[in-house]
Amino acid sequence: MSTESPTPEELKAMQETLLKAQAQAQPQQSGNPLSGYMRTPQIYITLPSGGRFWKENSIDLPSNGELPVLAMSTKDELILKSPDALLNGQAVVDVIEHCIPNIKDAWEIPVCDFDTILIGIRIASYGEQMEYMSQCPGCNETNEYEIDLRRFMDMTVDISGYDTTTLYKDLSVKLKPATYRAINASNMEQFEQQRMFTVVNATDLSEEEKLKQFNEVFSKLTDLNVRQMAETIEYIETPDGNRVTERLFLNEFIEGADRKIIDVVTKHQQAINAGVPEKDIPTKCPDCGHEYTTPFTFDQSNFFESVS
Ligand SMILES: [Zn+2]
Repeated sequence: MSTESPTPEELKAMQETLLKAQAQAQPQQSGNPLSGYMRTPQIYITLPSGGRFWKENSIDLPSNGELPVLAMSTKDELILKSPDALLNGQAVVDVIEHCIPNIKDAWEIPVCDFDTILIGIRIASYGEQMEYMSQCPGCNETNEYEIDLRRFMDMTVDISGYDTTTLYKDLSVKLKPATYRAINASNMEQFEQQRMFTVVNATDLSEEEKLKQFNEVFSKLTDLNVRQMAETIEYIETPDGNRVTERLFLNEFIEGADRKIIDVVTKHQQAINAGVPEKDIPTKCPDCGHEYTTPFTFDQSNFFESVS
């Protein structure tokens, strides 16, 4: 795909020009003759969570459960296209709150709602059709296909697994979806650890010294996984009915507990995840007729309308 993306420098210049123009513009409180042409909701979305798991005041959910979604503005696009936007969760949060004003704190989005929200913004901004490239595993030809994004919106997401608890010894463990805040923090940390691996590898340390440093990075990654797991625990109930919800106590418990609790929680999480359908796209190669499925993921390269 020959996508002519602006260089980081060009994007920066565009952003600066835009911000300058906005600063110069006279603030108009009312009576703007253009107000009728400003953004209006393009679509309405229903969240898989139905509004559950959202922290108080982080969402203003209409009684029918349908959230209006506005198209991205030029400024939103520029913000999201900036090279560090993927690492910078704030950019994503700003754009989500700008396009779905009912979402007051996008950091609190439960992971089960995240794709629906992104796909909603993509549909509101560029329409339901989306092009994607896929390489055929049969003949290795790469072709361009088109999907209707509504197929993902219509999928039934079963999150009833969050209603059940799982047992560890005589403790009852209740899970909840991780928030975008937790996922973003862990992605950033993971990125940093991977960078460390590369840095250590490139040094002219002795093999022994390198190994020592690798082990340190690896142990930090393990800590990260443990913390990430603790984030998804809503509470742990003791046999006498005492529900422990304090983050500090839960973290301490998971960190100090033996391997078995990790296995129990992982297994329960997998059972819950099984209720979330895979976003696979059935694909048929026009060159050799081979039929296969392409896993669908949203990333910066396909979120925006291609400018080919
Ligand atoms: Zn083929």
